[in-house]
Amino acid sequence: MSNPYIGDLIDAVYVLAVIFFILGLRAMSSPETARRGIVQAGMAMLAAVVVTFLTPGISNWAWIAAGVFVGGGAGFVWARRVQMTAMPQMVAVFNGMGGGAAAAIAAIELLTTLTNSADVGLSLAGAIIGSTSIAGSVIAFLKLQGWMRSKPIVFPAQQGVNVAVLAIGIGFGVTSALTANPIWLGPFFLFVLLYGFLLAIPIGGADMPVIISLFNAMTGIAVALDGFALVNGPLGDAGYAMVVAGTLVGAAGSLLTVLMARAMNRSIGNVLFSAFGAKEEEGTTVAGSLKPIEPSDAAVMMAYAGSVIIAPGYGMAVAQAQGKVKELADLLEQKGVDVKFAIHPVAGRMPGHMNVLLAEAGIAYDKLFDRDEINEQFPQTDVVLVIGANDVVNPAARRQGSALQGMPILDVDKAHNVLVIKRGQGKGFAGIENELFYKDNCHMLYGDAKDVVTKLVSALKSTPG
Ligand code: NDP
Repeated sequence: MSNPYIGDLIDAVYVLAVIFFILGLRAMSSPETARRGIVQAGMAMLAAVVVTFLTPGISNWAWIAAGVFVGGGAGFVWARRVQMTAMPQMVAVFNGMGGGAAAAIAAIELLTTLTNSADVGLSLAGAIIGSTSIAGSVIAFLKLQGWMRSKPIVFPAQQGVNVAVLAIGIGFGVTSALTANPIWLGPFFLFVLLYGFLLAIPIGGADMPVIISLFNAMTGIAVALDGFALVNGPLGDAGYAMVVAGTLVGAAGSLLTVLMARAMNRSIGNVLFSAFGAKEEEGTTVAGSLKPIEPSDAAVMMAYAGSVIIAPGYGMAVAQAQGKVKELADLLEQKGVDVKFAIHPVAGRMPGHMNVLLAEAGIAYDKLFDRDEINEQFPQTDVVLVIGANDVVNPAARRQGSALQGMPILDVDKAHNVLVIKRGQGKGFAGIENELFYKDNCHMLYGDAKDVVTKLVSALKSTPG
């Protein structure tokens, strides 16, 4: 361990790792290169972890190895087994773990530097942000998993209570620093964790993806702050690596949060503090009736259409219907129909959910169109086939007073004909009745998405033309 070059080797690997983090992030911005980006960034992280073991002065190898084995093993098994539809909960938990780890590092730093260091402020900030992130992520997990009511939980003077809890927590932290007495760190962590819970409980339904991304950004920032605090200690070089990696995660997470909020036509403040979806829809009676249609009739309608746009949503993911959907699209194209896919940024349960599923089924990227690109084409489209989507096609979003008001949607109701595949009367994630289904130009194909698309495929095969 006394090799004079070991420090240089560690630094060189950290620099390389950082370069590959950046290249990996860049590659993740397109579904075509995302897989490569994940491998690049993952390998870079592995290399950074391995060289950290070489840092002079590290002795408790067995504990570290046990932590890597238990944490890495659990993460590996869970990630291999997780259903695509349960991915957001898993991401929420993994994010939370990062926040928790950052808070734990900050706790150790606080316990060891309380008496002498200006790093206390950084550690306190890292502890607050990391603790908020883990506590909020736990709530996000419970809500998405259905183990906790997904609707916003609101109570009087909520924002005032939240601010008071945070202020008390900070008060305990500052007291601990000023008196150099670790006894105050207990209540400090208790209050900042409580603040994380309180911050997340009024956020529900449709806003969860934005909030998971925000907690991801917070975890990155907490790690970067911890890195700054570590720089002056024995693990100084690892501190620099944490600063860069944390800043990257913080920046990427913040950008994703802003982009997702923008996709929902909301501000971050509105997502955090408006308890979106807390109010039940009152006195809204939807005009019109639900009109079922047989798959054979729907197949004829599509076979003789000039253009068909397929709008997939969460139900397609649940039914794992993407393979059959590809078959359907191919058949329609063989019959001379122009087929496109309309992708809403928050369709499904994670960013890019629909892109991933359709790419897995082998549907070409140039057939997928974002909301902004495709919305103006709906009025000239003969048939829109909605497969298990609900909130992202709900025209109630355009109505004053609707709980969905302002959320940008796919304007499928403007097409000449709309066919909707869903199993029954289930509402979307936001729990709001969908006015689309009652419109004159809309017909319902009831059943599991995979079964119905299979029926459409066989009906199309026997449709002449
Ligand atoms: P929704 O959750 O709004 O609606 C899904 C629809 O699919 C339901 O109406 C359901 O009706 C139907 N369905 C469920 N299972 C099946 C099945 N096996 N076969 C056929 N239909 C089925 O989905 P959207 O994609 O329209 O909207 C996504 C929502 O999730 C948005 O509110 C978004 O904000 C939120 N969200 C998005 C995340 C993201 O990052 N993309 C993450 C977390 C939440 P029925 O029960 O009658 O079949």
